Amino acid sequence: MRPQSLYSVFAEPIKLPGIGPRFSKMIADLVGPHIVDLLWHLPTSVIDRRYSPSVKNAQNGQICTLTVTVDSHQPGAGRRQPYRVKCHDASGEIDLVFFHGRGDYLAQILPVASQRVVSGRVEHYHGQTQMAHPDHVVSPADGDSIRIVEPVYPLTTGLPAKTLRRAIQGALARLPAPPLAEWHMPALVAREGWPSWAEAVNAVHNVGDAGDLAPTTAARQRLAYDELLANQLALALIRQRQKRGKGRSLCGDGSLRQQALSAFGFPLTDAQRLAIDEILSDMAEPMRMLRLLQGDVGSGKTIVALMAMLNAVETGAQAVLMAPTEILARQHLATIQPLAAAVGIDVEVLTGRDKGKTREAARGRVADGTARLVIGTHALFQDGVEFENLALAVIDEQHRFGVHQRMALSQKGPGVDLLVMTATPIPRSLTMTYYGDLDSSRLNQKPPGRKPIKTVLFPLERLAEVSAAVGRKLTQGEKVFWVCPLVEESETLELTAAEDRAKQLEVAFPGRVGLIHGRMKGPQKDAVMAEFRDGSLDILVATTVIEVGVDVPAATVMVIEHAERFGLAQLHQLRGRIGRGDKESYCLLLHNGQLGDSSRARLKVMRDTEDGFVIAEEDLRLRGSGEVLGARQSGLPAFRLVDIAAHEALLAIARDDARLILDKDPELKNSPRSGDLRTLLYLFERDAAIRHLRAG
Ligand code: ADP
Ligand code: MG
Repeated sequence: MRPQSLYSVFAEPIKLPGIGPRFSKMIADLVGPHIVDLLWHLPTSVIDRRYSPSVKNAQNGQICTLTVTVDSHQPGAGRRQPYRVKCHDASGEIDLVFFHGRGDYLAQILPVASQRVVSGRVEHYHGQTQMAHPDHVVSPADGDSIRIVEPVYPLTTGLPAKTLRRAIQGALARLPAPPLAEWHMPALVAREGWPSWAEAVNAVHNVGDAGDLAPTTAARQRLAYDELLANQLALALIRQRQKRGKGRSLCGDGSLRQQALSAFGFPLTDAQRLAIDEILSDMAEPMRMLRLLQGDVGSGKTIVALMAMLNAVETGAQAVLMAPTEILARQHLATIQPLAAAVGIDVEVLTGRDKGKTREAARGRVADGTARLVIGTHALFQDGVEFENLALAVIDEQHRFGVHQRMALSQKGPGVDLLVMTATPIPRSLTMTYYGDLDSSRLNQKPPGRKPIKTVLFPLERLAEVSAAVGRKLTQGEKVFWVCPLVEESETLELTAAEDRAKQLEVAFPGRVGLIHGRMKGPQKDAVMAEFRDGSLDILVATTVIEVGVDVPAATVMVIEHAERFGLAQLHQLRGRIGRGDKESYCLLLHNGQLGDSSRARLKVMRDTEDGFVIAEEDLRLRGSGEVLGARQSGLPAFRLVDIAAHEALLAIARDDARLILDKDPELKNSPRSGDLRTLLYLFERDAAIRHLRAG
């Protein structure tokens, strides 16, 4: 249970003064459901309102805080005319200008003959001094409260900046009293010169100038370390429990594996062989396996997973493979089914798409053990699928599943071994923050016969050339992926762009253009994919839904529009869709003509290397972890206060700290710090890790 000391910050925002149900909901959607989420919502810039000149001296274009007397109200004549409130001070006159101004409201906040302090941007317009929509209007007595350096927060539509600021100040007023006891080692706090938690939280919101926004301030470092330690402790706790949990020794006789390999028909790469050895020796141990298999798209993870699964089946148990999307689940099925058929075992598929009787029957075959291999999506644990005898869970997560879902799946059988596969190579530092000290195998070598992919940058203006080049490829029987721009925040716009592009291409290449997007239903998507892979469609226009999965050996060209809008990891994933056959492949990155330096640098990285691990490190260096792991890119639970690029040094300290803590006090209950460290875990909502403590 959450400690009582945290109740005040785990209330809903509606408890804050001036926040009703409507704003509470908006705040929850923007930052999260609790008051503590407001504390983690950091300002991204500041507005300095300390400049308070006379009206005459107020500079054009500057943010000014002025003390004026209200002379008269002039409602706009007609709808296009703004509402004007004429004011003056001893030095001159100024108009406050309101478009669509509501007279009754303005009369109330700016009564004629009263003195008011107003703050906003001053403009000199046709010889007149004016301020459009002042950000603040207060009485002279409250003037000092706005003559400050004001933090500016990321907002959401409909939520006024003022309201959010008030909510955050309200949250700061509700910090636990008495202050939370220090959970860090006093020596560390002293050495780094860190403020207390409460002081730090106050400092990051009540900033003195823009420099205080840097991730390197003592306050930011302290909060980042809080979050990193909570993260490393939680991972270490889960891992400690998983390792301690009794596992099964799974040692098959190799018969199924051997048959499947000869049906596969290719020799394994050295990297694959090594990974399989590592996995099999983990499985043979009587402890539970918890291993990460990292490998670029196309590095051949599926066959590695299948070898592990067949090892489990050889011992008489079942194995399950869970994929993040329907398409990917079907793709794994396509690889695995023929090989399973060759060795004479049954594979069952369970996804959200199957309904009613079909689904019941499938579940029955999993429960009674007819199905030895099961492939599915998260539908697998959503409605309590039972296994007859599950021994291995493989999770192809591509960052889309969290620790909890992994745990949920591994609890479907006693001592289930866990293999987590990821195709997005992530930098080592980030592997540590997301998986802790997990055992890991890396497939850093591609199956033989792959030709390198040529990557070329094109400004969008040269679209006609690109289209012509695509035409030449089509005449050689090759196929083309065409990915349309990512539009932040608007799936509808994204779809429109893709539809428009498909129509244009259809004019040039009639009957050969297909379209696939996120709004389509599963069977529709599959039908288009199948038509592209095997049928008459030669160009597949797509929104980013093809990011994962889909194997089309004849596809040799990948066109990506507005490549500068994508993350490097995502571009890398997309590019991995081609170059799977034996022909030369091309990736055309179409970009905005006016590229900024950093965008250009990122696209050059794509042009210069195909190594996913190199790309991941560069991406981290060029953009920082927030971006690399932005929700849209990866689905990883983002850090709230940590910026890995800036705080990487703290990560190693946190990891060692967490290890030391648990070595001495594995249950977090026998040291003077243990209670405070539990509070820290609750503060960062690592409750799940604490539950494992108790259950353990
Ligand atoms: P990943 O899941 O890592 O993206 P896949 O397992 O889907 O990669 O493999 C990509 C393609 O490479 C598949 O068509 C697969 O059959 C093929 N492949 C895998 N391993 C080998 C190998 N050792 N030799 C030849 N082809 C292979
Ligand atoms: Mg695969």
